[in-house]
Amino acid sequence: MIFRGLAKLFLIAICPLLFVASARAAGDDALMERLVRSYPEFLMGHEGNELIWKDGTRMLFDDGKRDKEFETLLNAPSIRDMFYAPYLSGKVTAAPDINSDPGRVRYEPFFIKMYGDCRKGETSRTLVDVVWLPKKWGKMIKMTRVNGVAEQLSKISRELDQLPATYDSYLIPPAGTVNCRVIEGTKRMSAHGSATAIDIAQKHANYWRWTKPDSKGRYPYRNQIPAEIVEIFEKHGFIWGGRWYHYDTMHFEYRPELLNSDGVRSEVKKQEP
Ligand SMILES: [Zn+2]
Repeated sequence: MIFRGLAKLFLIAICPLLFVASARAAGDDALMERLVRSYPEFLMGHEGNELIWKDGTRMLFDDGKRDKEFETLLNAPSIRDMFYAPYLSGKVTAAPDINSDPGRVRYEPFFIKMYGDCRKGETSRTLVDVVWLPKKWGKMIKMTRVNGVAEQLSKISRELDQLPATYDSYLIPPAGTVNCRVIEGTKRMSAHGSATAIDIAQKHANYWRWTKPDSKGRYPYRNQIPAEIVEIFEKHGFIWGGRWYHYDTMHFEYRPELLNSDGVRSEVKKQEP
């Protein structure tokens, strides 16, 4: 009788808990796998809650903290938190959800380990030239060679070069790549510091900080960048800042781990911006 009671307790109470725990771990394993696949130059695998680097370093994936405020997510994220919102490619049909900014959350030590710290002059040693729109413009821009980022940007550049002349004003001139600076209004290093980002189309750019919030305090979504351009960047591992609630539509950044990700739909606190 006692045994049957315990068995019942196991089935009703403990079994579902085990299931939930293993399901979450499986999701996290898939995300770590995604990182290993995206950065094979540096990562060799993962074990438990750690990413294993080729130099033997182990880095914690999940800090175990849930329900972070949005600002905490940006300022003190774990690697897992970088997947807090899904990145969905394809034509933009609706404004992003409040605080859905897939890619804005960056665990800085992860990127510094690969691309170097620009404040110490480490990133500049990795820079190479990329010809921007070889037929239509033909001047050099700088990008990091680490992780093949410059190579991917060359492919993007050659494909953009094939687009009809109606796209020229979005592409010529480019609006900047490498820049060792913090993100406007924050203390966080920009992806331009890692030389993994490019801005385009200054004249057609929309940025949430330049927009007045509406009466509910929400930033109305704005974008002028054509989907054809976005598609070419995404095909080669670059995400687009136009998919963020805090949009930055001129901004593209090499983040292959996020493309077409479901994200962990993490437990970020629902709140007004
Ligand atoms: Zn940018």
